[in-house]
Amino acid sequence: MNTEYRVEYRRDHVPAGYRGWRHLLFTFGVGGAAMVLSASRVSHVALLEWATVPLTFLYANFAEYWGHRGPMHHLTRGLRLVYERHTRQHHRFFTSENMELDGLRDLRAVLFPPILMSFFITAFMLPAALLLAWIATPNVAWLFVATSLAYFLNYEFLHMAYHLPPGHPIARLGMIRRLERLHRAHHDPRLMAHRNFNITYPICDVLFGTLERR
Ligand SMILES: [Zn+2]
Ligand SMILES: [Zn+2]
Repeated sequence: MNTEYRVEYRRDHVPAGYRGWRHLLFTFGVGGAAMVLSASRVSHVALLEWATVPLTFLYANFAEYWGHRGPMHHLTRGLRLVYERHTRQHHRFFTSENMELDGLRDLRAVLFPPILMSFFITAFMLPAALLLAWIATPNVAWLFVATSLAYFLNYEFLHMAYHLPPGHPIARLGMIRRLERLHRAHHDPRLMAHRNFNITYPICDVLFGTLERR
């Protein structure tokens, strides 16, 4: 069991002033507000512009897959924090035998920290949106931003759901249970660097032959 590491993590990596509910509120409150605001900027969408939504969804699934298969599991220059938080901390805090949060403070080991969330939005989403507004239309850019944020919030929600106690009403939903099994297999230390890199829907795991059903 990883009880010793959990004690160490809570002592060394969770600041005394950390509050899980504030972290939840920032992620879903600020993220959700930004998503609604972006969606509200869209007007008179042409049929072709709607294609931005499924294309962004597929692109996000691909980014989730490669981000996880790459820098989250392999030390990469400039992205050390991502590796540290994921492989060194998240995977030691939660193993396939012990997947559950013990309370709101443990959300620190699940949700992206606000600083990383802001970094990804500024470094990756914003430049892509500006480029889309320039080469396509403002509608395409806003649809891209709204869909990316919706995908990110869905990612955070599902990942949190996989680490809830099994009796929790959200954890008992059929689809969550099916997806949780895939993520639990990924938390097996023997499989973590090889299988089930999609946290949400295993589209790229199927495409790239890394899906492990157990
Ligand atoms: Zn996890
Ligand atoms: Zn992982």
